[in-house]
Amino acid sequence: MKKHNFSAGPCILPRIAIENAAKAILDFNGMGLSLIEISHRTKDFEDVLDEATALLTELLDIPATHKVLWLGGGASTQFYFVPFNFMNKKAGYVNTGVWAKKALKEAKLFGDAVEVACSEDKNNTYIPKGFNIPLDLDYLHITTNNTIFGTQFKEDIDCPVPLIADMSSDILSRKVDVSKYALIYGGAQKNMGPAGVTFVIVNESMLGKVDRKLPSMINYKTHIDGGSMFNTPPVFPIFVVKETLKWLKSIGGVEAMAAINKQKADLLYGEIERNEMFSCPVEVQDRSVMNVPFVYSDKYKDMEPTAFLNFAKDNGMIGLKGHRLVGGFRASIYNALPLESVQALVDCMKEFEQKCK
Ligand SMILES: *Cc1c(COP(=O)(O)O)cnc(C)c1O
Repeated sequence: MKKHNFSAGPCILPRIAIENAAKAILDFNGMGLSLIEISHRTKDFEDVLDEATALLTELLDIPATHKVLWLGGGASTQFYFVPFNFMNKKAGYVNTGVWAKKALKEAKLFGDAVEVACSEDKNNTYIPKGFNIPLDLDYLHITTNNTIFGTQFKEDIDCPVPLIADMSSDILSRKVDVSKYALIYGGAQKNMGPAGVTFVIVNESMLGKVDRKLPSMINYKTHIDGGSMFNTPPVFPIFVVKETLKWLKSIGGVEAMAAINKQKADLLYGEIERNEMFSCPVEVQDRSVMNVPFVYSDKYKDMEPTAFLNFAKDNGMIGLKGHRLVGGFRASIYNALPLESVQALVDCMKEFEQKCK
Protein backbone atom coordinates (compact mmCIF):
# COMPACT_ATOMS: atom_id res chain seq x y z
CA MET A 1 0.00 0.00 0.00
CA LYS A 2 1.19 3.51 -0.76
CA LYS A 3 2.28 5.33 2.38
CA HIS A 4 1.34 8.93 3.05
CA ASN A 5 3.88 10.49 5.40
CA PHE A 6 2.48 13.25 7.64
CA SER A 7 5.36 13.10 10.12
CA ALA A 8 6.18 16.38 11.92
CA GLY A 9 9.93 15.78 11.66
CA PRO A 10 12.15 14.36 10.46
CA CYS A 11 9.80 14.69 7.57
CA ILE A 12 8.98 13.42 4.14
CA LEU A 13 11.59 14.24 1.48
CA PRO A 14 11.29 14.25 -2.31
CA ARG A 15 11.73 10.74 -3.67
CA ILE A 16 14.38 11.93 -6.14
CA ALA A 17 16.51 13.33 -3.30
CA ILE A 18 16.39 9.99 -1.49
CA GLU A 19 17.27 8.05 -4.63
CA ASN A 20 20.22 10.30 -5.40
CA ALA A 21 21.36 10.08 -1.78
CA ALA A 22 21.24 6.27 -1.96
CA LYS A 23 23.37 6.36 -5.12
CA ALA A 24 25.90 8.75 -3.57
CA ILE A 25 26.24 6.49 -0.54
CA LEU A 26 27.21 3.60 -2.79
CA ASP A 27 29.33 5.46 -5.33
CA PHE A 28 29.74 9.20 -5.25
CA ASN A 29 30.34 10.96 -8.58
CA GLY A 30 31.70 7.74 -10.07
CA MET A 31 34.70 7.98 -7.72
CA GLY A 32 34.36 4.37 -6.65
CA LEU A 33 33.99 5.69 -3.09
CA SER A 34 31.04 6.52 -0.89
CA LEU A 35 30.08 10.14 -0.18
CA ILE A 36 30.46 9.32 3.52
CA GLU A 37 34.03 8.03 3.33
CA ILE A 38 35.76 10.87 1.50
CA SER A 39 37.41 13.99 2.91
CA HIS A 40 35.14 16.98 3.25
CA ARG A 41 38.03 18.96 1.76
CA THR A 42 37.87 17.19 -1.59
CA LYS A 43 36.74 19.28 -4.54
CA ASP A 44 33.83 16.91 -5.05
CA PHE A 45 32.41 17.66 -1.62
CA GLU A 46 33.23 21.35 -1.72
CA ASP A 47 31.13 21.50 -4.88
CA VAL A 48 28.21 19.93 -2.98
CA LEU A 49 28.43 22.53 -0.22
CA ASP A 50 28.81 25.40 -2.70
CA GLU A 51 25.83 24.19 -4.72
CA ALA A 52 23.65 23.90 -1.59
CA THR A 53 24.57 27.47 -0.68
CA ALA A 54 24.01 28.75 -4.22
CA LEU A 55 20.62 27.05 -4.46
CA LEU A 56 19.42 28.37 -1.11
CA THR A 57 20.66 31.85 -2.05
CA GLU A 58 18.77 31.70 -5.34
CA LEU A 59 15.57 30.16 -3.93
CA LEU A 60 15.28 32.67 -1.08
CA ASP A 61 16.79 35.58 -2.99
CA ILE A 62 19.33 36.08 -0.20
CA PRO A 63 21.09 39.46 -0.53
CA ALA A 64 24.90 39.77 -0.54
CA THR A 65 24.79 41.21 2.99
CA HIS A 66 23.80 37.79 4.30
CA LYS A 67 25.93 34.65 4.56
CA VAL A 68 24.65 31.06 4.51
CA LEU A 69 26.11 28.62 7.05
CA TRP A 70 25.69 24.86 7.42
CA LEU A 71 26.29 23.82 11.01
CA GLY A 72 25.71 20.94 13.39
CA GLY A 73 23.75 20.91 16.63
CA GLY A 74 20.19 21.44 15.43
CA ALA A 75 17.97 24.47 15.94
CA SER A 76 18.22 23.86 19.69
CA THR A 77 21.91 24.79 19.59
CA GLN A 78 20.98 28.08 17.92
CA PHE A 79 18.83 28.84 20.98
CA TYR A 80 22.07 29.70 22.84
CA PHE A 81 24.24 30.56 19.80
CA VAL A 82 21.96 33.52 19.02
CA PRO A 83 22.01 35.30 22.41
CA PHE A 84 25.71 34.52 22.81
CA ASN A 85 26.48 36.38 19.56
CA PHE A 86 23.80 39.07 19.66
CA MET A 87 22.79 39.94 23.21
CA ASN A 88 24.72 42.49 25.20
CA LYS A 89 22.03 43.48 27.65
CA LYS A 90 18.50 42.86 26.56
CA ALA A 91 16.59 40.81 24.00
CA GLY A 92 12.89 40.33 23.30
CA TYR A 93 11.10 37.06 22.58
CA VAL A 94 7.64 36.41 21.21
CA ASN A 95 6.39 33.34 23.02
CA THR A 96 4.15 31.44 20.62
CA GLY A 97 4.63 28.01 22.18
CA VAL A 98 7.07 25.26 23.05
CA TRP A 99 9.98 26.08 20.74
CA ALA A 100 9.79 29.83 21.29
CA LYS A 101 9.76 29.22 25.02
CA LYS A 102 12.82 27.00 24.84
CA ALA A 103 14.67 29.71 22.91
CA LEU A 104 13.68 32.27 25.55
CA LYS A 105 14.86 30.01 28.38
CA GLU A 106 18.34 29.72 26.90
CA ALA A 107 18.57 33.47 26.23
CA LYS A 108 17.90 34.17 29.92
CA LEU A 109 21.30 32.65 30.67
CA PHE A 110 23.01 35.53 28.87
CA GLY A 111 21.16 38.68 29.90
CA ASP A 112 17.79 40.28 30.28
CA ALA A 113 15.63 38.21 27.94
CA VAL A 114 12.06 39.48 28.07
CA GLU A 115 8.82 38.11 26.71
CA VAL A 116 7.33 40.90 24.58
CA ALA A 117 4.20 38.94 23.65
CA CYS A 118 2.70 35.60 24.51
CA SER A 119 -0.13 33.38 23.30
CA GLU A 120 -0.28 31.00 26.26
CA ASP A 121 -3.59 32.46 27.49
CA LYS A 122 -5.36 30.53 24.71
CA ASN A 123 -3.07 27.50 24.54
CA ASN A 124 -1.04 29.10 21.72
CA THR A 125 -3.89 28.95 19.22
CA TYR A 126 -3.07 32.36 17.73
CA ILE A 127 -0.18 34.66 16.79
CA PRO A 128 0.07 37.80 18.95
CA LYS A 129 -0.31 41.01 16.94
CA GLY A 130 0.27 44.70 17.45
CA PHE A 131 2.56 44.13 20.42
CA ASN A 132 5.02 46.77 21.54
CA ILE A 133 8.67 46.24 20.61
CA PRO A 134 10.95 48.13 23.04
CA LEU A 135 13.66 50.07 21.18
CA ASP A 136 16.39 49.11 23.64
CA LEU A 137 16.36 45.46 22.57
CA ASP A 138 19.53 44.04 21.04
CA TYR A 139 17.18 41.92 18.92
CA LEU A 140 13.68 40.49 18.74
CA HIS A 141 13.29 36.72 18.35
CA ILE A 142 10.27 35.09 16.72
CA THR A 143 9.40 31.53 15.74
CA THR A 144 7.74 31.93 12.36
CA ASN A 145 5.92 28.60 12.41
CA ASN A 146 4.73 26.94 15.55
CA THR A 147 5.24 23.27 14.67
CA ILE A 148 3.35 21.91 17.66
CA PHE A 149 0.33 24.23 17.88
CA GLY A 150 -0.01 24.94 14.16
CA THR A 151 0.18 28.72 14.08
CA GLN A 152 2.26 30.75 11.63
CA PHE A 153 3.38 34.30 10.98
CA LYS A 154 2.06 34.75 7.44
CA GLU A 155 4.14 37.84 6.68
CA ASP A 156 7.53 39.28 7.56
CA ILE A 157 6.89 41.68 10.43
CA ASP A 158 8.21 45.23 10.54
CA CYS A 159 10.67 45.43 13.38
CA PRO A 160 12.57 48.51 14.63
CA VAL A 161 15.34 46.35 16.17
CA PRO A 162 17.33 43.47 14.57
CA LEU A 163 14.92 40.62 13.87
CA ILE A 164 15.96 37.00 14.42
CA ALA A 165 13.76 34.08 13.39
CA ASP A 166 13.61 30.36 13.99
CA MET A 167 12.20 29.16 10.64
CA SER A 168 12.78 25.45 11.26
CA SER A 169 9.37 24.35 10.13
CA ASP A 170 8.40 26.81 7.42
CA ILE A 171 11.61 27.76 5.64
CA LEU A 172 11.04 27.63 1.86
CA SER A 173 7.28 27.29 2.28
CA ARG A 174 6.71 30.88 1.21
CA LYS A 175 8.71 33.86 0.01
CA VAL A 176 10.44 35.81 2.77
CA ASP A 177 12.20 39.14 2.58
CA VAL A 178 15.55 38.00 3.97
CA SER A 179 16.82 41.58 4.15
CA LYS A 180 14.37 42.20 7.01
CA TYR A 181 16.15 39.67 9.23
CA ALA A 182 19.46 39.93 11.07
CA LEU A 183 19.50 36.15 11.24
CA ILE A 184 17.35 33.20 10.22
CA TYR A 185 18.02 29.67 11.44
CA GLY A 186 16.51 26.23 11.66
CA GLY A 187 17.04 22.51 11.73
CA ALA A 188 16.86 21.18 8.18
CA GLN A 189 14.76 18.16 9.10
CA LYS A 190 11.35 19.84 8.92
CA ASN A 191 11.22 21.24 5.43
CA MET A 192 14.66 21.23 3.86
CA GLY A 193 16.38 17.89 4.33
CA PRO A 194 17.26 15.19 6.84
CA ALA A 195 18.26 15.66 10.48
CA GLY A 196 21.88 16.54 11.20
CA VAL A 197 22.39 19.91 9.58
CA THR A 198 21.30 23.37 10.72
CA PHE A 199 20.98 26.28 8.33
CA VAL A 200 21.88 29.82 9.34
CA ILE A 201 21.41 32.92 7.19
CA VAL A 202 23.12 35.84 8.88
CA ASN A 203 23.68 39.49 8.12
CA GLU A 204 27.42 39.66 8.65
CA SER A 205 27.47 43.40 9.42
CA MET A 206 25.37 42.82 12.53
CA LEU A 207 27.96 40.57 14.15
CA GLY A 208 30.83 41.53 16.46
CA LYS A 209 28.78 43.83 18.69
CA VAL A 210 28.83 41.90 21.95
CA ASP A 211 31.37 42.44 24.70
CA ARG A 212 31.86 38.85 25.78
CA LYS A 213 34.59 36.58 24.48
CA LEU A 214 33.29 33.95 22.08
CA PRO A 215 34.72 30.43 21.84
CA SER A 216 35.57 29.74 18.19
CA MET A 217 32.87 27.13 17.67
CA ILE A 218 30.08 29.36 19.00
CA ASN A 219 31.11 32.38 16.97
CA TYR A 220 29.27 32.91 13.68
CA LYS A 221 32.31 34.72 12.30
CA THR A 222 34.41 31.56 12.63
CA HIS A 223 32.00 29.70 10.41
CA ILE A 224 31.66 32.55 7.92
CA ASP A 225 35.44 32.81 7.62
CA GLY A 226 35.77 29.03 7.40
CA GLY A 227 33.02 28.69 4.81
CA SER A 228 31.20 26.20 7.09
CA MET A 229 34.42 24.15 7.03
CA PHE A 230 36.00 25.31 10.30
CA ASN A 231 35.36 21.79 11.51
CA THR A 232 33.98 18.78 9.65
CA PRO A 233 30.52 19.73 8.42
CA PRO A 234 27.65 17.21 8.37
CA VAL A 235 28.54 15.91 4.93
CA PHE A 236 25.67 13.55 4.23
CA PRO A 237 22.78 15.78 5.38
CA ILE A 238 24.23 18.66 3.35
CA PHE A 239 24.19 16.45 0.27
CA VAL A 240 20.53 15.57 0.82
CA VAL A 241 19.67 19.24 1.42
CA LYS A 242 21.35 20.08 -1.89
CA GLU A 243 19.25 17.42 -3.67
CA THR A 244 16.07 18.68 -1.97
CA LEU A 245 16.81 22.25 -3.03
CA LYS A 246 17.47 21.07 -6.59
CA TRP A 247 14.05 19.42 -6.57
CA LEU A 248 12.42 22.59 -5.24
CA LYS A 249 14.03 24.64 -8.00
CA SER A 250 12.90 22.10 -10.61
CA ILE A 251 9.25 22.52 -9.63
CA GLY A 252 9.45 26.31 -9.96
CA GLY A 253 10.98 27.50 -6.69
CA VAL A 254 9.47 29.01 -3.59
CA GLU A 255 6.65 30.92 -5.26
CA ALA A 256 5.38 27.82 -7.06
CA MET A 257 5.76 25.86 -3.84
CA ALA A 258 3.81 28.46 -1.86
CA ALA A 259 0.90 28.15 -4.30
CA ILE A 260 0.87 24.35 -3.92
CA ASN A 261 1.17 24.65 -0.14
CA LYS A 262 -1.85 26.95 -0.10
CA GLN A 263 -3.80 24.47 -2.20
CA LYS A 264 -2.90 21.62 0.18
CA ALA A 265 -3.72 23.65 3.30
CA ASP A 266 -7.03 24.92 1.87
CA LEU A 267 -8.05 21.39 0.98
CA LEU A 268 -7.32 20.01 4.44
CA TYR A 269 -8.67 22.91 6.52
CA GLY A 270 -11.73 22.93 4.26
CA GLU A 271 -12.44 19.30 5.07
CA ILE A 272 -11.88 19.84 8.80
CA GLU A 273 -14.48 22.65 8.66
CA ARG A 274 -16.93 20.59 6.63
CA ASN A 275 -16.55 17.29 8.48
CA GLU A 276 -18.78 17.21 11.55
CA MET A 277 -16.39 14.88 13.40
CA PHE A 278 -13.42 17.22 13.46
CA SER A 279 -12.46 20.76 14.33
CA CYS A 280 -9.30 22.84 14.30
CA PRO A 281 -8.46 24.72 17.52
CA VAL A 282 -6.37 27.40 15.76
CA GLU A 283 -7.73 30.87 14.89
CA VAL A 284 -8.48 30.96 11.17
CA GLN A 285 -6.15 33.79 10.12
CA ASP A 286 -3.12 32.25 11.90
CA ARG A 287 -3.44 28.66 10.67
CA SER A 288 -0.15 27.16 9.55
CA VAL A 289 0.23 25.90 5.99
CA MET A 290 2.79 23.36 7.29
CA ASN A 291 1.38 21.77 10.46
CA VAL A 292 -2.36 21.21 10.77
CA PRO A 293 -3.57 20.20 14.24
CA PHE A 294 -7.16 18.97 14.56
CA VAL A 295 -9.25 17.28 17.22
CA TYR A 296 -12.64 15.56 17.42
CA SER A 297 -15.47 18.07 17.49
CA ASP A 298 -17.44 18.42 20.75
CA LYS A 299 -20.07 15.93 19.63
CA TYR A 300 -17.43 13.20 19.28
CA LYS A 301 -15.03 14.31 21.98
CA ASP A 302 -15.36 11.09 23.99
CA MET A 303 -14.14 8.97 21.12
CA GLU A 304 -10.63 7.55 21.44
CA PRO A 305 -8.07 9.22 19.12
CA THR A 306 -6.87 5.73 18.21
CA ALA A 307 -10.21 5.10 16.46
CA PHE A 308 -9.34 7.56 13.69
CA LEU A 309 -5.60 6.92 13.89
CA ASN A 310 -6.05 3.20 13.30
CA PHE A 311 -8.53 3.81 10.50
CA ALA A 312 -6.06 6.21 8.88
CA LYS A 313 -3.19 3.78 9.39
CA ASP A 314 -5.15 1.07 7.60
CA ASN A 315 -5.32 3.51 4.69
CA GLY A 316 -1.56 4.10 4.62
CA MET A 317 -1.47 7.33 6.67
CA ILE A 318 1.63 7.71 8.83
CA GLY A 319 2.50 10.24 11.56
CA LEU A 320 -0.95 11.69 12.32
CA LYS A 321 -0.89 11.41 16.11
CA GLY A 322 -1.30 14.85 17.67
CA HIS A 323 1.30 16.34 19.98
CA ARG A 324 0.50 15.57 23.62
CA LEU A 325 0.01 19.30 24.37
CA VAL A 326 -2.78 19.57 21.79
CA GLY A 327 -4.13 16.04 21.63
CA GLY A 328 -6.05 14.63 18.70
CA PHE A 329 -4.25 14.71 15.41
CA ARG A 330 -1.66 16.66 13.49
CA ALA A 331 -1.02 16.44 9.78
CA SER A 332 2.31 17.94 8.78
CA ILE A 333 2.02 18.85 5.14
CA TYR A 334 5.55 19.97 4.38
CA ASN A 335 6.83 20.92 0.91
CA ALA A 336 7.64 17.39 -0.23
CA LEU A 337 4.22 16.00 0.70
CA PRO A 338 2.25 15.77 -2.55
CA LEU A 339 -1.27 17.14 -2.96
CA GLU A 340 -2.47 13.59 -3.60
CA SER A 341 -1.49 12.62 -0.04
CA VAL A 342 -3.61 15.46 1.35
CA GLN A 343 -6.46 14.32 -0.92
CA ALA A 344 -6.01 10.77 0.41
CA LEU A 345 -6.26 12.05 3.99
CA VAL A 346 -9.37 14.08 3.15
CA ASP A 347 -10.97 11.00 1.55
CA CYS A 348 -10.08 9.01 4.64
CA MET A 349 -11.72 11.62 6.92
CA LYS A 350 -14.86 11.50 4.79
CA GLU A 351 -15.03 7.71 4.92
CA PHE A 352 -14.48 7.79 8.68
CA GLU A 353 -17.37 10.22 9.06
CA GLN A 354 -19.65 7.93 7.01
CA LYS A 355 -18.58 4.92 9.05
CA CYS A 356 -19.22 6.58 12.43
CA LYS A 357 -22.46 8.40 11.63
C1 LIG B 1 11.84 20.97 15.62
C2 LIG B 1 12.01 22.38 15.97
C3 LIG B 1 13.11 22.84 16.71
C4 LIG B 1 14.16 21.90 17.24
O1 LIG B 1 15.02 21.50 16.24
P1 LIG B 1 16.27 20.55 16.52
O2 LIG B 1 16.99 20.61 15.21
O3 LIG B 1 15.73 19.20 16.86
O4 LIG B 1 17.05 21.14 17.63
C5 LIG B 1 13.22 24.19 16.94
N1 LIG B 1 12.30 25.05 16.49
C6 LIG B 1 11.23 24.66 15.79
C7 LIG B 1 10.24 25.66 15.30
C8 LIG B 1 11.04 23.30 15.50
O5 LIG B 1 9.98 22.90 14.81
